Amino acid sequence: MAETKRDYYEVLGVAKSATADEIKKAYRKAALKYHPDKNPGDKAAEEKFKEAAEAYDVLSDPEKRQKYDQFGHSMGPQGFGGAGGFGGFQGGGMSMDDIFAHFGDIFGGRFNGGGFGGATGRGSSRGRKPVRKGGDVRINVKLSLADIASGVTKNLKIPTNDKCEHCNGTGAKDGTAFSTCPTCHGQGVVVEMQQSIFGPMQSEAVCPTCHGDGKIITTPCSYCNGTGVQRKDNTVSFHIPAGVSDGMVLTVKGKGNAPAHGGVNGDLLVVINEIKDPELIRDGNDLIYNLMLDIPTAALGGPVEVPTVTGRARLNIPAGTQPGKVLRLRGKGLPDPNGGAKGDELINIMVYVPENLTPEQRQTFEAMRTAPNIKPDQSTVKRLFSKLKHIFE
Ligand SMILES: [Zn+2]
Ligand SMILES: [Zn+2]
Repeated sequence: MAETKRDYYEVLGVAKSATADEIKKAYRKAALKYHPDKNPGDKAAEEKFKEAAEAYDVLSDPEKRQKYDQFGHSMGPQGFGGAGGFGGFQGGGMSMDDIFAHFGDIFGGRFNGGGFGGATGRGSSRGRKPVRKGGDVRINVKLSLADIASGVTKNLKIPTNDKCEHCNGTGAKDGTAFSTCPTCHGQGVVVEMQQSIFGPMQSEAVCPTCHGDGKIITTPCSYCNGTGVQRKDNTVSFHIPAGVSDGMVLTVKGKGNAPAHGGVNGDLLVVINEIKDPELIRDGNDLIYNLMLDIPTAALGGPVEVPTVTGRARLNIPAGTQPGKVLRLRGKGLPDPNGGAKGDELINIMVYVPENLTPEQRQTFEAMRTAPNIKPDQSTVKRLFSKLKHIFE
């Protein structure tokens, strides 16, 4: 009772006149900033997270807010700050599970499953046992451009926590060695009535005896030491659609870790790692290939070979092809994973000027130097430059 508490408005950083919406926004901001998933092991952040939740509990309820405005923290034997205080949260404020059970909705579901120890029963609805979810498993999958162009089916051995087969995931010997929890009579939750200045208040908490299981193991399974899980290499088969890109995450539902003592499996998160192609450069769904032509082919024209995601392709270079020109192979790019048009392959033309000439070649070039059609005139320069969008102006 003697502890000093910060003003709830100060905690959320809002004015005394703040609207319900402003309070909600401020709490959301604070909750996201100090969320334990973002600040693992940071006790100070956890305290701030709890402090914000407590402030929001009071300020988001018109009746509680009015009382708080009137009396502040320091009122009566059932004051806001002490044990058994506000909102019926037991003993010294809220636990993390209380916060998620009461305010989970403000996160818009984004923290469901996965994080936070992976196996706490959040999102419980009244009268029902919380469903436990196992942790997600994250893997990286390396894909070549050819894999990405066609899409690929993977069969991978992935070590995950699996349901122990000897006890069927229960953790009890032979899956049968337990008795009904005497505290919650098998419900997994306990309902507590508390007297507060606003009258009796009801709150629900995970049963402290059985931690939500509803039953107590009398003899633990000797294979999993009562955890209900065993490490196993599971072969998981999944399809990666064509057109994915580096850093994309695909979710394979229910192929992550099994939680201890039964519940639903977490998910398998497949992170795409694109292997850099030695020749083709990716630009969204388009591919770019830098083609270095020799001077005779640029001048005379002729067939060349270029790489594509489906192998080599023959391409006819027109006579008089200028460096800087871009040839387009329609539909030779990558598929759009969202069902849009297929990309193109763009051939970016460059011309190699020979660096070491034989005496004969030197003579040939010398002879060409004075020929009237070799040097471009002003109008030719203008015409060619106008076609090159990226030339400096
Ligand atoms: Zn077992
Ligand atoms: Zn119980």
